[in-house]
Amino acid sequence: MNEIRCGACRRKLGEGEYSRLVIKCPRCGAINTLRAESPPSARRRAPDPQRQTIGNPSKAIADSTSAR
Ligand SMILES: [Zn+2]
Repeated sequence: MNEIRCGACRRKLGEGEYSRLVIKCPRCGAINTLRAESPPSARRRAPDPQRQTIGNPSKAIADSTSAR
């Protein structure tokens, strides 16, 4: 299952499996258009599922920065 998060405020909107999904965030009102084929962030960087950030992407960035 995939976590579905708001791209603007990172609020968790739900989870499940989808091929395409458009969901409006109840918190900030952003329209999130999601497609399972191309996860926008996972594709570009390390294609390593172990390091996939669940929940808080900024934490991973902070971790790698401090580890340096
Ligand atoms: Zn939002």
